[in-house]
Amino acid sequence: MAKPTGFLEYGREDTPYRPVEERLRDWNEVQADAPIERVKAQAARCMDCGIPFCNSGCPLGNIIPDWNDLLYRDKMEDALLRLHSTNNFPEFTGLVCPAPCEAACVLGINDDAVTIKQIEWEIIRTGWEQGWVVPVKPERRTGRSVAVVGSGPAGLSAAQQLSRAGHTVTLFEKNDRIGGLLRYGIPEFKLEKWIIDRRLDQMRQEGVSFQTGVHVGQDLSAAELRRSFDAALLCLGAEEPRDLPTEGRDLDGIHFAMDFLTQQNRRGAGDELDPAKDILASDRHVVILGGGDTGSDCVGTSHRHKARSVTSIELLERPPDHRSPTTPWPSWPLLFRTSSSHEEGGTREYARMTKRFEGRNGRVEKLVGVEVRFGEPDESGRPRLEEIPGSDFEMPADLVLLAMGFLHPVHAGIVEGLGVRLDPRGNVMADTGEFATSEPGVFAAGDCRRGQSLVVWAQWEGREAARAVDQYLMGRSRLQSRSALV
Ligand SMILES: Cc1cc2nc3c(=O)[nH]c(=O)nc-3n(C[C@H](O)[C@H](O)[C@H](O)COP(=O)(O)OP(=O)(O)OC[C@H]3O[C@@H](n4cnc5c(N)ncnc54)[C@H](O)[C@@H]3O)c2cc1C
Ligand code: SF4
Repeated sequence: MAKPTGFLEYGREDTPYRPVEERLRDWNEVQADAPIERVKAQAARCMDCGIPFCNSGCPLGNIIPDWNDLLYRDKMEDALLRLHSTNNFPEFTGLVCPAPCEAACVLGINDDAVTIKQIEWEIIRTGWEQGWVVPVKPERRTGRSVAVVGSGPAGLSAAQQLSRAGHTVTLFEKNDRIGGLLRYGIPEFKLEKWIIDRRLDQMRQEGVSFQTGVHVGQDLSAAELRRSFDAALLCLGAEEPRDLPTEGRDLDGIHFAMDFLTQQNRRGAGDELDPAKDILASDRHVVILGGGDTGSDCVGTSHRHKARSVTSIELLERPPDHRSPTTPWPSWPLLFRTSSSHEEGGTREYARMTKRFEGRNGRVEKLVGVEVRFGEPDESGRPRLEEIPGSDFEMPADLVLLAMGFLHPVHAGIVEGLGVRLDPRGNVMADTGEFATSEPGVFAAGDCRRGQSLVVWAQWEGREAARAVDQYLMGRSRLQSRSALV
């Protein structure tokens, strides 16, 4: 235990962020680094509980009390070793994870939780600075080859694990750059892209082969994929966006959020874009439909484009300010959350439904909607959505961004080509023990298997699926499983 009286002596100090006026002028990381003495004091708050619920709250099973203790005792390199033993990329989770571990922290029952995510970031930040993150090569190669399709956090963690197990790994990505949503979804102000690149360098040196611009199912057929590799792991993400097929949807100025966010990430990377296809929020009344991470990223991006106004609209009711009794500790709480982008400005409206868009000369100008409430449950047990009579409203909207989530992976192409079975929601069917699809030698992990989720879950799925693939190829696996740790 770091310091037996730490939680009595020190209060929680939240992760520091750069001042709003400063960060709105650039695209750099909004999160600021904390001085080491402050991080140590925060680590000292960890009580090293008999049953550390944070450890099971973290999807990766990060062994949080151990690294809190090691950091406090100035054994930073050991802390990093412990952190890497469960998490291939703590720098991604340390920056963008919503930290379900903190919601499960025992100290959080009657005090503020330990700042686990910040501590995780500081450990890996120091590790890179000190040159402790080096390529890890297997003692020998197995002679088996694996294709990983998709280079988001699931594909990346699977590829790293499989290569370290000695397999020859080729990672295919249809885009021109590696990283999936880390690269083209999440904005730079949450995750600067050089942070991905230095990890890719490590993986290249470990022997992973990256093949960009290869759309598997089009450029490489399903049959060829199966013929050329001993096993294939699908990490395709859930790229089919939820649409809003309402009157006026076809007007110019209404876009899927990912088109907007991808363009900005490309701009940031220095790509030349076709000005005729630019989606910019500059000087526009921006309306964002959907209140999750994607919607919040559109808010931050619109502010940096200098939008005239930014309004987020959510169909659901406003969540409570404090943990709802329906989500008691240590579960992930239903709670009103304010992201760094929300802190930067804009308005959030809840319980509002869009009825139609109106415009002139083919371009959207206005959103027409109505306030709603959730009434008595219907036959399926779901609360009935009711319009509130007389609550119709309209608002100026000359850029509308649809951020209402994703349905499932794209089926056309590799999913249909391989003929893998789908679950009732349209995701690739595979369980979390074997990660095996209905087709022998074909596995699935990440959002394409579990549906749209989080980076931390994708990294967990990639690690666990790698173990399942290794087991399939070798009859046994020495790769670690989370179930062996908790
Ligand atoms: C805008 C946005 C912001 C988000 N913010 C956060 C956040 O702050 N924190 C958080 O925890 N989560 C966040 N998420 C969710 C998180 O990014 C995803 O859950 C996670 O990236 C899923 O990882 P994945 O590897 O399964 O898929 P993805 O990251 O989607 O990667 C899939 C990759 O597969 C490639 N691919 C698909 N089909 C093929 C094919 N046939 N051939 C070759 N390549 C193919 C795609 O091009 C893509 O690069 C966010 C999501 C979005 C959309
Ligand atoms: S990965 Fe997420 S849940 Fe796990 S310790 Fe880090 S911040 Fe917490």
